[in-house]
Amino acid sequence: MANLLYDHLFGTHAGKTTPFLYLLNGDVITHQSFLEMAAQIANAMTEQGLKTGDRVAVQIEKTPQALAVYAACAQAGLVFLPLNTAYTVDELTYFIENSGASLIVCDTSRQDDIRAVAKPLSAAVETLDADGSGSLMQKAESQPTQFETVARGPDDLAAFLYTSGTTGRSKGAMLTQKNLLSNAQALVKEWRFTSDDTLLHALPIFHTHGLFVATNVTLIAGSSMVFMPKFDTDKIIEWMPKATTLMGVPTFYTRLLADERFTKDLTAHMRLFVSGSAPLLAETHVQFEQRTGHRILERYGMTETNMNTSNPYHGERRAGTVGFPLPGTELKITNPDDGATLPDGEVGQIEVRGANVFKGYWQMPEKTAAELREDGFFITGDLGMIDEDGYVHIVGRNKDLIISGGYNIYPKEIEMVLDDQDGVLESAVIGVPHPDFGETVLGVIIAQPDESPDLDSLMKAVQKSLARFKHPRKLVILDELPRNTMGKVQKNLLRDTYKDAFT
Ligand code: ATP
Ligand code: MG
Repeated sequence: MANLLYDHLFGTHAGKTTPFLYLLNGDVITHQSFLEMAAQIANAMTEQGLKTGDRVAVQIEKTPQALAVYAACAQAGLVFLPLNTAYTVDELTYFIENSGASLIVCDTSRQDDIRAVAKPLSAAVETLDADGSGSLMQKAESQPTQFETVARGPDDLAAFLYTSGTTGRSKGAMLTQKNLLSNAQALVKEWRFTSDDTLLHALPIFHTHGLFVATNVTLIAGSSMVFMPKFDTDKIIEWMPKATTLMGVPTFYTRLLADERFTKDLTAHMRLFVSGSAPLLAETHVQFEQRTGHRILERYGMTETNMNTSNPYHGERRAGTVGFPLPGTELKITNPDDGATLPDGEVGQIEVRGANVFKGYWQMPEKTAAELREDGFFITGDLGMIDEDGYVHIVGRNKDLIISGGYNIYPKEIEMVLDDQDGVLESAVIGVPHPDFGETVLGVIIAQPDESPDLDSLMKAVQKSLARFKHPRKLVILDELPRNTMGKVQKNLLRDTYKDAFT
């Protein structure tokens, strides 16, 4: 029997001396040498007694070796479970205990703490450091460079990925081989990836964006990547001539635009810029086109489903929208009260169904049952609408919806008006408790550098464009919005800060 994921992503490159990873120190890792490293790691892991279906939790820096652990897990039929490198030991304890991992791979600097957590769980601990060294690679180096691929079926688990924790505690999404493979295949086609492509890879590999979207697409297409430990404007600019594509979160693009070396000439040879994980401001989209002549392609996805929609490769990439459902993914907008499908143009909850949709949340049967319908539709927790041309618009998260005096208020509508005003860089509108209305609207404003927008004029601008019940009762200026490591605005923190503003 075959191993669907391993065979399509990795096995297909056996024996190829084509470049897979370009490293910043000038080294090149070929497909073949990457596969050999993965096989050695697979041998080292199984020699320790890891069995098919066991979970391997990793909190490690982004290195070729770290990526090879992912490949090794696929080949050995282990479930790969990457964790955000920003998590503290306390946070890690939850993930390690929750996931029931059999092996934990961590940085040497953390191993004592992790061993203390691992011991009562009888989990093994190995180290892997930012320079690629550590006990795991020491064990791997003496192993054979071949490993007999373990057979796995399409519905077998390939990975556990914890959600970003933007709206509450992170949930472990169980992703199958089919989930990952079907989505990567759809994206390769949609975005026209080929073996001629070189992707600038500056995203973390513990999140779906950098791990599954960027890496799996590259692997299926037989492309290569410039593998950067993290986003660094200087490095992106330096390496851009070598690349054809870039995938980023919106902050990548705002940071590049803030640098005058980022010019039309520098990007003239580039084929594609993709954005996702958080909303790309329409203004960034417009500025980017003015500067470079390229239109950023925005797409929409999440840990539980991989990617769901994308703006078109050919055809209009519409700012402020996330495009159309990907082939193989159905998307509908429903009424949160009764689940009935709403007509186009109306705002409701976004539901998706397809081979990309996960199997459920690990050890959370109630949450799984509440969000994953029996007919296969997943209630994403995002609100959106489909416009007359079929483009999907994300309006915000269900949890961020404000209900004031019985009226539904979508923060994004108010944020768009605020963002348009002179001196405003960005804004976040939240609902806070109010004795009369249940909740009321509060706007947090971030000023453009060296500007100080007048709050009265901002309030007037909102009053002019929006109905009275949507007007913020208070505007405050902050230096920056609280964001998590994926660049997502944490409105729950803002709500907490201002919870007593009207009580
Ligand atoms: P948690 O589920 O733990 O609260 P999270 O939803 O932020 O965290 P992820 O799975 O990393 O965790 O993020 C998926 C979410 O990111 C989507 O549900 C959506 O809200 C947002 N998102 C992704 N792409 C876009 C986009 N292009 N525009 C707007 N929002 C996006
Ligand atoms: Mg989520």
